[in-house]
Amino acid sequence: MLTSRLPGRVEPYKLAAHAEHLEGLVALGDMPRLADEAGVQNGDAEVWLDFAIDAQGRREIRGRLTAELQLLCRRCLSPMPQSVESEFLLGMVSSDALAASLPSTHEPVLVEDEQLNLLAMIEDELILSLPQVVYHDEADCAVSRDQLSSGESAESVSDSPAENPFEVLKQLKGKT
Ligand SMILES: [Zn+2]
Repeated sequence: MLTSRLPGRVEPYKLAAHAEHLEGLVALGDMPRLADEAGVQNGDAEVWLDFAIDAQGRREIRGRLTAELQLLCRRCLSPMPQSVESEFLLGMVSSDALAASLPSTHEPVLVEDEQLNLLAMIEDELILSLPQVVYHDEADCAVSRDQLSSGESAESVSDSPAENPFEVLKQLKGKT
């Protein structure tokens, strides 16, 4: 269990030169792009990073992260806890143009003025590791299998009866 926090920015070339290991927590609430993708999140991601220079002289970061997110169930649209885990291998590049020179084993990570925005890097990795779609187990879901098989969606279950086209029709007929 990690307790310390990772810094928001680091000097990655120095860390790689010294083969440093960093580990710590990163606040999920500080990630607006993750919030756009998956809704506002609370809590922390746990992150482990190893900086190194490989045999080809590339500066790289091997990392792992885990996080407990609250993602919307596609069936009932209420939040459900979902564990996300990712392992990654990043190659540092000083411009987007240099990213093409990396082997396919490495994802590029941009280092500007010898600074690396760790928060943005972890946010990118989290977004990449989001599952496409999540569902509750049937027993836990607010939308039961019966409702699904009768063709009712989550919206129509919770909406008022006036949304029902037959009810609307009745009201219209009553007026004439
Ligand atoms: Zn559900």
